[in-house]
This record gives sequence, structure tokens and C-alpha cells, in this order.
Amino acid sequence: MTDQIFEYAPAPESRAIVDIAPSYGLFIDGEFREAAEGKVFKTVSPSTEEVLSEVAQAGTADVDDAVRAARAAFTGWSALPGTERAKYIFRIARILQERARELAVLETLDNGKPIRETRDADLPLVAAHFFYYAGWADKLEHAGFGPAPRPLGVAGQVIPWNFPLLMLAWKIAPALATGNTVVLKPAETTPLSALFFADVCRQAGLPKGVVNILTGDGATGAGLVAHPGIDKVAFTGSTAVGKEIARTVAGTRKKVTLELGGKGANIVFDDAPIDQAVEGIVNGIYFNQGQVCCAGSRLLVQESVQDELLDALKRRLGTLRVGDPMDKNTDVGAINSAEQLARITELADSGEAEGAERWSAPCELPSNGYWFAPTVFTGVSQAHRIAREEIFGPVLSVLTFRTPDEAVAKANNTPYGLSAGIWTEKGSRILAMANKLRAGVVWANTFNKFDPTSPFGGYQESGYGREGGRHGLEAYLDV
Ligand code: NAD
Repeated sequence: MTDQIFEYAPAPESRAIVDIAPSYGLFIDGEFREAAEGKVFKTVSPSTEEVLSEVAQAGTADVDDAVRAARAAFTGWSALPGTERAKYIFRIARILQERARELAVLETLDNGKPIRETRDADLPLVAAHFFYYAGWADKLEHAGFGPAPRPLGVAGQVIPWNFPLLMLAWKIAPALATGNTVVLKPAETTPLSALFFADVCRQAGLPKGVVNILTGDGATGAGLVAHPGIDKVAFTGSTAVGKEIARTVAGTRKKVTLELGGKGANIVFDDAPIDQAVEGIVNGIYFNQGQVCCAGSRLLVQESVQDELLDALKRRLGTLRVGDPMDKNTDVGAINSAEQLARITELADSGEAEGAERWSAPCELPSNGYWFAPTVFTGVSQAHRIAREEIFGPVLSVLTFRTPDEAVAKANNTPYGLSAGIWTEKGSRILAMANKLRAGVVWANTFNKFDPTSPFGGYQESGYGREGGRHGLEAYLDV
């Protein structure tokens, strides 16, 4: 019998559903306006390098204006009864659901991630986050933070490019529910969904100044977190920038949460269902091109099943469809930027130079845009850079272990501590392992599952503070 290969017909999502303006201003006090210094920068589609739009680069005067607007709005917003704040947040959640298709297309164009992910993961989670925190707005006195918990004031929030709208939701939903006002800066390579969100706020009739969006680069972010009018800093991004922010706010009264990098261990025992584990490994490191802080970037496999697991994994990776993120059949899209691609390439090259064995899924990469084939390194030692440093790309480092204790020791041998996964059919082993793993999230027989009711955050250099769930309220309350 000959193997017959069935080709997929192209299934492109239409981009006609979303209007992208040729240029965008800053969203301050309910209005879009140009940056005071008139500076702009371009945002491109990583899968084609097409310029999508030009956005304003906020400078010092704009940060001042946005913080002032948020401060002025705080008085009225924080005085509203929780039931009234909840109405606005529920309205935002419903508009996000209604406009989910537009937003999914916009996010895919600006970020490069597959439409299947923006449509089925990012957008449903974004809406769920607003619904969830809307529900808390009138129940804060029952949340375990005392009889009348108070908001902090103005939150300065800085987010990365890997889940642009979802990170915005993680930041803005709990801030509004608790009565704070917000100045948020999206990442410079993915500003468009945050600007769209500004329009959602207007559509929801949110009072002016409650949410302000400043587009710009690291300098804008640094200006925002250092601004004396900010009461709370919430940052998601790299550990290097997180450390800088911690230094900036040290000695001030600002409250801080930092969600930083990771080097998650995905641990597969010899009794694990191999096919399910393979799906979990793929989801753990190739979802969102591996640009996920809690990615399962280190596979720890029990020695006795290593060959079987790796054969099955490579077979599965051969079926992943890499390419046009707007095609509904695509599994792996584009890397977010040329800079990120250069970082991934440099680290992957170091893996080879240090003696690990490299294997990449056979796939044809488009000639324009930023692409990296799903890659697996075997023969990795704990000393290799690819075992220690966060690659933030579709690159898996495989290590082996013989005993559960060895698995724990290797999993915990990292300066990070954000996530881990355990694959075994023994419930007792899951519980015993979970107790010993120094990671903020431990998944069992699954990976990369998110829910707004569940707190998320790290140990060690993965940051501090928790977002999500009841815990996520605390970061925005004066308790
Ligand atoms: P980054 O730290 O360079 O940038 C993140 C954001 O910070 C951007 O908006 C950027 O403009 C801004 N920024 C840069 N320099 C700044 C400064 N000095 N002061 C204030 N703001 C500044 O990170 P990135 O390259 O955009 O994102 C990738 C990193 O983020 C990865 O290391 C990843 O692990 C991490 N990340 C963590 C989580 C989490 O929840 N823990 C989630 C997503 C990404």
C-alpha cells in the first residue's frame, strides 16, 4: 500500500472584517491624540513584514498627561458602588465577545500567531477575564481582605508582545474591578489590539481617564513606572527589565507585581500515556511559537521511554503546519519580530556549538517574514545554555532522568520557577511531585491551561505577586 498524502486546501481568514487605520494616536482622557513631540513608529505584520500602521510614540509630557487624567478619573471611579463598576466591566466583556472576530484577525496580523489560537484561545480568555473580575467588583468586602478594602489609585501597567490583548486583560480587568484607574503601555511590536481596546472602552461608555493607553518603547515604559503619580506598577516581560523596574521603584511607596521569564520543565514518567504526553509537549512548547513565559521548554523524560517518546514526538512534529497565520489550518505562525528571531537563532546555535544534537521538523518556511522551524535538541546537559536560558521560541531541550528525585532536582535546577508539567498515571506521584516542584503553576497530564479563576505567577527570577483568581485582587488593593 502506498502512503497517500492529503493536502489541505487553503482556508484563509478574511482580513476585511477589521479596519486598520493608517495611523493611531495615544488614548488619553477618553480621546485619541498625537504625541506631544509628534514622534511615531511603525508596526509591521511579522508574517509578511508589511507595515500595518503608524502609531504615536509617547514621551515624558504624554506620560504626565495620561497619569494626570487617570488621577482625575480615580476620584469618581473609586467612589462608584461596586455594582456600578461591574456594569461597565460586564459591558466591556460583552463587547469583546461581540467583536472577537475583528480582534482575533487584528491580533494575528500584528503578532504573527495563528488565527486558530487568537480565535480559540486568546479572545475567549480575554472575555472570560473581564467577566470574571466584573463578578468580583461588588463582592470585594467578602474577598478576605477586610470589611472595606480600598483601591491603590493609579496603576501603571507595562505588557509584552506574546499575548498582547490577554496580558492587557490580566492587567486592566482586576484594576478596574477594585476601583483603580489605569495607564497601560503595550509592547512596541504589538500596539494595535490595545488601541482597539481603547475604542471598546469608549463604546462601553467608560468614564474618561479611567483607562489610558500609551504606545511607545522601553523608554515610555521606564518613564511610566518611574512617574511619581503612579501608585502601583504591574509589569509582564523579561527578567532583565523586571529587575530594572524593581530597582526603580525600590524605596518608593509603589506596590509592584512582576511576571517575568521561565524555563518550565515538562516531566514525562514511563507510565504516562505517550500519545497524550506528545500532545502536551507540542502544546507546551510550540503553542504561540514557544513565545510563552510558562512554556514547557525543558522536556525531562524518564530514560526507559526516551526513544519511544522522541520517535512519536518527531512523527507528530512532522504533521504540524507552519506558515500563514491567517490560514485556519496553520498550527505554527511567525516569530514576533526580527529581534526575537535573532535571539532564538543565537541560542539555538549555541546548543549545537555546545554539543547538543539538533533536529528540526521538515517544513518549508515562507520567504518573507520571521520564521523558525519547530526544533528539538537531544543530548542536552544541564550546563548547556539551551537548558538554562529562556529561548522564548519553538525550541525544546530534552534531558533524561531515572528516578523521581532526579526529575525534581533537574526541574528545580533553574533560576526561574514559573511552571512545570507532570505526566504519569499515578495520582499519588502527581501530588508528591507537585509538592516538591518550585514552580508557580504545576499542570498534571495537561499543559498551558489557563483560567481566570486560577492564580498565576512565579518563584525566584520568574517574578513576584499573583495575577488571576481572588489572589489577583490583592495586588490592586491597599491591604
Ligand atoms: P521586555 O521586557 O523587553 O518588554 C516588555 C515590555 O516592557 C514592553 O512593553 C517594553 O516596551 C517594556 N520595556 C522595555 N524596557 C523597559 C524599561 N526599562 N522599563 C519599563 N518598561 C520597559 O520583554 P519582551 O521581549 O517584550 O517579552 C518577552 C519576555 O517577557 C520573555 O522573557 C518572557 O518570559 C516574558 N514574559 C513573561 C510573562 C509572565 O507572565 N511571566 C508573560 C509574557 C512574557
